[in-house]
Amino acid sequence: MDTLLTIKQLQQILASHKIFPKKQLGQNFLIDRNIRDKIISFAGITKNDIVVEIGPGLGALTGTIAEKAKFVYGFEKDRKLVKILLNMVSNLPNVFIEEKDFLELDEGFFRKFENKIKIIGNLPYYVASPILFKFLEIRDYWQLAVVMIPEEVAIRIIAKPGDKNFGLMAVLFSLLTNCSICYKVRGSVFYPEPEINSVVMKILSREKPTIDIKNLEAFWKILPKLYMQRRKTILNVVSNSFKLDKKIAASVVQKAGIQPSLRSHQIEIDKMLTLVERISEIKNR
Ligand code: SAM
Repeated sequence: MDTLLTIKQLQQILASHKIFPKKQLGQNFLIDRNIRDKIISFAGITKNDIVVEIGPGLGALTGTIAEKAKFVYGFEKDRKLVKILLNMVSNLPNVFIEEKDFLELDEGFFRKFENKIKIIGNLPYYVASPILFKFLEIRDYWQLAVVMIPEEVAIRIIAKPGDKNFGLMAVLFSLLTNCSICYKVRGSVFYPEPEINSVVMKILSREKPTIDIKNLEAFWKILPKLYMQRRKTILNVVSNSFKLDKKIAASVVQKAGIQPSLRSHQIEIDKMLTLVERISEIKNR
């Protein structure tokens, strides 16, 4: 069932419930059928798929996902929207809407499915990055995500070593997922119009990282610290963050094949992973 509202219908529903779209909840509602269809087609949904929708709002995507999927689980933070949406989808037996912050959804929910799920969402922009980091935490449970996100976040995800936007996000997404930008989207496809540009991104979860990660615990503990002080040389970052004498830090960095004067965003990912191993060794001695 098509649950996308025209701008007129949307404005009427909002007014009759005395709802003002909340900027602090990233409430920009999709009103363009063509973009809705594109987003859903990028996900290639079949009747075997369980789909989790993040922030279904007033259902712009929900009804059409439900036509194609086995089940749709929508997690929406705004109680007022949940009430209206529950009413809209009350005759769709395969749609389950819950009032919930997606960031607070625990692993128990994902564990109950036999097959890996698909995730779809026009993400609330203020929490797009934390939601994307959560995707990495729960990556064993999903196979594909199609999300609308701010263009500036997408640029940080697909950045390559040497780019000024290259950092932790790009490293993690390149190691653990396969990402591509499907489509650039104009603000006018939303009501109200956001002030920033958006893109639709498709993310595939990899079975194995692109480079072998020898010690996962050390990886998650050490790697983020290497990208925290972007302006400092890698020598200073290693020496400050891991409380190592400058000489020892220099030798650790050089043993990883890295020039100590480089900044973290200039260094290839495989070398950073070697550096993580060297730091872990020296700290565990
Ligand atoms: N999917 C709808 C659409 O395309 O029109 C709404 C998209 S709007 C960009 C983002 C939606 O996410 C809003 O409905 C907002 O209330 C909801 N939201 C905001 N923060 C959330 C969170 N942490 N967890 C779940 N939903 C959230």
